[in-house]
Amino acid sequence: MIKKGKVTVIGAGLVGSTTAFALMHSSVVSEIVLIDINKEKAEGDILDMSHGMTFIKPIKLTAGDYSDTVGSELVIITAGANQKEGETRLDLMKKNTKIFSQIVGDLKKYITEESIILVVTNPVDILTYLTYKLSGFPKSKVIGSGTVLDTARLRYMIGNAMHVDTRNVHAYIIGEHGDSEVAAWSGATVGMMSMDEYCQEISVCSEFDKNEIYEEVKNAAYNIIEKKGATYYAIAMGVRRIAECILRDENSILTISTLLTGEYGISDICLSVPTLLGGKGAGRVLEIPLSPEESARLSDSARVLKAHADEVGI
Ligand code: NAD
Repeated sequence: MIKKGKVTVIGAGLVGSTTAFALMHSSVVSEIVLIDINKEKAEGDILDMSHGMTFIKPIKLTAGDYSDTVGSELVIITAGANQKEGETRLDLMKKNTKIFSQIVGDLKKYITEESIILVVTNPVDILTYLTYKLSGFPKSKVIGSGTVLDTARLRYMIGNAMHVDTRNVHAYIIGEHGDSEVAAWSGATVGMMSMDEYCQEISVCSEFDKNEIYEEVKNAAYNIIEKKGATYYAIAMGVRRIAECILRDENSILTISTLLTGEYGISDICLSVPTLLGGKGAGRVLEIPLSPEESARLSDSARVLKAHADEVGI
């Protein structure tokens, strides 16, 4: 039986442990199971987090194995191999494909399609598609973090440039979480004005370069990795936001990665477009108006992802 607020995190690396820490502070999470092939790392994280228990609301924390996943409302996969020097993107994809076959195989012994699986490991769209195929779960129950983080980065950067609270900015990054991602500028709004009108209104258009911002968003992870080796704080906050949408049945619109079945003329691949997310998982995919150029770029992004899926034989 599904337990309210039980979340499993698979992978206790930088992203997984930071995610578990972020989830620990959510009032809607009642239990966290942390699993890693390196059991000592998961045990160490759980011990460390448990010692802060007196500062938060009661929560059950376990460093576990797959049998402990029973009843999880949400299973978050952050486990995977990192790119080694001299290794190609394809080598990494093949490695993570193998790791996911094992993880999803083990998970399926203990969870049913009542649970929702959220994939965070990269390449997130390909691994979401693979997890959908391996699990046999309905498409609503297998999602990827997709461009939730990229969208947050875009909104932050627009807010900064326009001297406005990022929460008043509505704009999306859609498509692949990666190099072919697309900024849907044409529908961007600030406080119900189109973004272009708003920037004229406050006279900052001359300093605002859409291409520069797009490149900054697209290369954000590379820049952070160059400085400190990995990114994990903002993704952990994004994953917590996704988890809360599910656990609170929010029906929020997020750019999670899901299987498309004809929307935007795209099918049989997972990528991100604005999608309703609630307690039953991914709901309606919204077909937002796009300019002809944005539509063409989204189709290209889908083609790139299909080629990647073909490369690893999914
Ligand atoms: P990391 O190397 O710190 O952690 C990976 C963890 O996975 C390690 O602890 C490792 O022991 C564990 N692991 C490996 N194989 C396993 C298996 N078979 N079963 C269980 N655990 C296993 O890496 P990280 O920095 O935490 O990043 C994790 C992933 O998240 C990467 O793929 C990274 O690219 C991705 N990421 C995604 C986003 C996003 O927006 N989707 C953002 C940041 C990072």
